[in-house]
Amino acid sequence: MILIDGKKTSLELQEEIAKEVKQLISEGKKQPHLAAILVGDDPASQTYVTSKVKACDRVGFKSTLVKMEAYTSEQKLLEKIKELNSNDDIDGYIVQLPLPKHINEQKIIESISPSKDVDGFHPVNVGRLVLNLPTYVSATPYGIVHLLERYQIPTEGKHCVVIGRSHIVGSPMSILMAKNTNLGNCTVTLCHSKTKNLKEHTLQADIIIAAIGRPNFVTADMVKQGAAVIDVGINRVEDNTTPKGYQLVGDVKFDEVSKKVSYITPVPGGVGPMTIASLLQNTLKASKKEI
Ligand code: NAD
Repeated sequence: MILIDGKKTSLELQEEIAKEVKQLISEGKKQPHLAAILVGDDPASQTYVTSKVKACDRVGFKSTLVKMEAYTSEQKLLEKIKELNSNDDIDGYIVQLPLPKHINEQKIIESISPSKDVDGFHPVNVGRLVLNLPTYVSATPYGIVHLLERYQIPTEGKHCVVIGRSHIVGSPMSILMAKNTNLGNCTVTLCHSKTKNLKEHTLQADIIIAAIGRPNFVTADMVKQGAAVIDVGINRVEDNTTPKGYQLVGDVKFDEVSKKVSYITPVPGGVGPMTIASLLQNTLKASKKEI
């Protein structure tokens, strides 16, 4: 069994990005610039945004953090987005989700200029993904693609079962795995909460991508010997023996599944660390006007 090291792969990718930034700057080109809008004071969102800004520093990007109060009106946020859309120095930006309840998230996503939508959530970018056109692929699925590539996990002609159909993970993942490209060419089955006899599907899978949000959901009896398993889930499970009172576990019952598979991602340290590296890659593409 090969343990897929997302932390190491993410750092390697960031080093490559940093090298490219140095090169761009030495050629007199513009320093890539990522902005992030954070509305409110949700602790998890603050942590995510802070680590994105730190990652920008690491690779030599310029970053701008726009903090707005939790009571900010939808109108005020739309005005800020308009400002970022027309600011030529900003190559790409994200609006950290979730937003406070009084703000319509979809309306906000649709107001972001597709050419600066480095999260890849805008309908134009999702449409371009479906049509196999150059686009910003949202960070988590993009990170998984990198892991499969770097670990040279064969995909062509394989059967991939994706569990979960969310807009940010499961659905784009199923599209990427079925694409007629080097990484892709799988036969894909997309399973979800209404799927009957899930185990019958997963037992057919050469590759399982689990994005459900339920701790230890995928058990060894659901997995074919020698399959590759990508665990996207990040679930907090109460554990009074740890200082924080909880531990993070994935959607896959790691102890038993890891004994049967050819490749597996751990949680934490698998898919999670790849997300930031992918966001940086999208920003680099934006600064080079590749999309
Ligand atoms: P979501 O709640 O939006 O979607 C969950 C999906 O699971 C749904 O499509 C649902 O149909 C499916 N599902 C629920 N119960 C099921 C069942 N019994 N059988 C089959 N399918 C079932 O969640 P999401 O945003 O896609 O996130 C999924 C998990 O991935 C969460 O644990 C989340 O924290 C984690 N996540 C991790 C990263 C990362 O960077 N590693 C990024 C995003 C999400």
